[in-house]
Amino acid sequence: MADTGVVLTEIRKSFGNLEVIHGIDLTISEGSFVVFVGPSGCGKSTLLRMIAGLEDVTDGEIEIKGRNVTDLDPSDRGIAMVFQSYALYPHMSVRDNLAFGLKMARTQASEIDARVKAASAILKIDHLLDRRPGQLSGGQRQRVAIGRAIVRKPDVFLFDEPLSNLDAELRVSMRIEIARLHRELGNTMIYVTHDQTEAMTLADKIVVLRDGYIEQAGTPREIYERPNNVFVAGFIGSPR
Ligand code: ADP
Ligand code: MG
Repeated sequence: MADTGVVLTEIRKSFGNLEVIHGIDLTISEGSFVVFVGPSGCGKSTLLRMIAGLEDVTDGEIEIKGRNVTDLDPSDRGIAMVFQSYALYPHMSVRDNLAFGLKMARTQASEIDARVKAASAILKIDHLLDRRPGQLSGGQRQRVAIGRAIVRKPDVFLFDEPLSNLDAELRVSMRIEIARLHRELGNTMIYVTHDQTEAMTLADKIVVLRDGYIEQAGTPREIYERPNNVFVAGFIGSPR
């Protein structure tokens, strides 16, 4: 049945003649928070980057909101991605960092102002708009990076380990912020992490990846209480 979220059909990815994603089928319901977990190198980022359009798929199809986006540019997919390295422009103010993508897309100035204002209110960074990234803490920088995604009003947010550069305390508070953001915005969010706590607390649905396959997909509770095998049990069960 058609779903208005994100639908992956038989997705494969090879680098050279090495296949790293082996035919993944997955339906991500609109408005849900889905977390990809799994050990380093299992293919989390590659899968996310294919959804974003930053990597071509070798085979298979990607639908977003009922539209086949497999061959579309990243900017035409209705997605926005937040990276682990915030990639802010150091010479620009926070305001200009937030506005940059919209200016490139020739959005009207009044509309840009309105969106920057709304995003900074949501993220509580209104008082930082005239600063440069170098004058911000790690957590504030990460908020700006998320703000840059919000101003684009994407259908789907993609996060690749957005908190892994932050210290433990800040990771907890940003995790709570991201959960709040999901409640307030209601968008589909796809979130990559290797942190079990983030997965358990943020996800509506956890997708456990291993060596380019889906080992198990289910609610945090299902995965925790009824793991399919020792790998899943060990991965979700073991505290960090
Ligand atoms: P994860 O994000 O789960 O740590 P990745 O998606 O980054 O894993 O990587 C999955 C596999 O694909 C790994 O074996 C990695 O070495 C390989 N890989 C990722 N990107 C490239 C690339 N650009 N060229 C060749 N191999 C790659
Ligand atoms: Mg990765």
